[in-house]
Amino acid sequence: MDIKELEKLLELRGEPKFRLEQIKKAIFQDGVFSFAEISTISKGLREALDEEIKILSFVPKKVLQAQDGQSIKALLELTDGNLIETVLISPKPGFWSACISCQVGCAMGCRFCATGKIGFIRNLTAEEITDQILFWRQYIKKNLKFKIKNLKLTDIVFMGMGEPFQNWPEVRKSLKDLIDPKLFGFGSRNISVSTSGIGEGIENFGKEFPQINLAISLHFASDKKRSNFMPVNKKYNLENLKKALQKYFENSNRKVFIEYIMLDGINDSREDALELANFLKSVGKLQLLHVNLIRYNTTSENLKPSSGNATQKFRNYLLQNNINVTIRKSLGSEIQGACGQLAGK
Ligand code: SAH
Ligand code: SF4
Repeated sequence: MDIKELEKLLELRGEPKFRLEQIKKAIFQDGVFSFAEISTISKGLREALDEEIKILSFVPKKVLQAQDGQSIKALLELTDGNLIETVLISPKPGFWSACISCQVGCAMGCRFCATGKIGFIRNLTAEEITDQILFWRQYIKKNLKFKIKNLKLTDIVFMGMGEPFQNWPEVRKSLKDLIDPKLFGFGSRNISVSTSGIGEGIENFGKEFPQINLAISLHFASDKKRSNFMPVNKKYNLENLKKALQKYFENSNRKVFIEYIMLDGINDSREDALELANFLKSVGKLQLLHVNLIRYNTTSENLKPSSGNATQKFRNYLLQNNINVTIRKSLGSEIQGACGQLAGK
């Protein structure tokens, strides 16, 4: 929803100031599908707005619901024909978390990631980013038979396509709109931004949004392995990442999530666990670091997920080293809507 455009149109028509607030509430909080539904404004204005302005900046092409009802993926076509994906995940009944994209494709080229394989196509605008939330609010309202009052889209994670700190100006603007009480009104603590480890991005984020959650896609705790699978590590290596996290903690006291995908025979040995524990200890603030062990969702022929047994063992090594760790359940793999499987298909 282009709020500036809406503002301009209302001004041109000589509408009073409070009109904008009424319309913003209907769109951002009540999840209306069209201006025609906004009963608090006149019929003439509703029709004029529906003719001149669109609520969503894309057209939904396909929506896939997983059998277990716990995840739903949407394929969205942007006005220039590019495709992005967003996923709605329900970690517990009645609560929904939206996983949103911030770029078409991604330049970082991580070898295990389907989005990385596409390469970078373009940045999304703040509007295209936040419209994914509007889309899900509308979808929940229409399909899941919830009443407006308990629309329980509670959390947002920037874990769809793209690297948030490579599109910082627009991601920053989208975060401001998401936490603006007059727009989306999410609590900072219900939003998480995930990065592959762009040093200055992490620092700026901590300064500006110390209450929004940060997740680091670490996956490897040795520079050699990390650079091999994540080219970003050649520019921002582990030493650099460590410094960025230390700077981050000067501004924020929030827990940081360390994402670690479990790859069979690659990063799941006892040595790998010890290396990870040592790296995290070197950052300091160990109580604020929390490792999530993630099942690798197959995207490449020659990489395999670690077994459940290896994952348990890995977790135990970390626990023995006083590292906070959880094995994360993967939702959405059956609809190719799990992390790293988003490729705009
Ligand atoms: N670009 C950002 C955010 C999007 S990726 C980042 O990398 O953090 C979202 C998460 O999915 C990241 O933690 C990413 O490393 C992980 N991921 C990528 N490919 C995956 C795969 N095949 N299986 C499981 N997780 C994957
Ligand atoms: Fe980009 Fe994240 Fe995928 Fe790496 S894991 S290619 S940074 S989207």
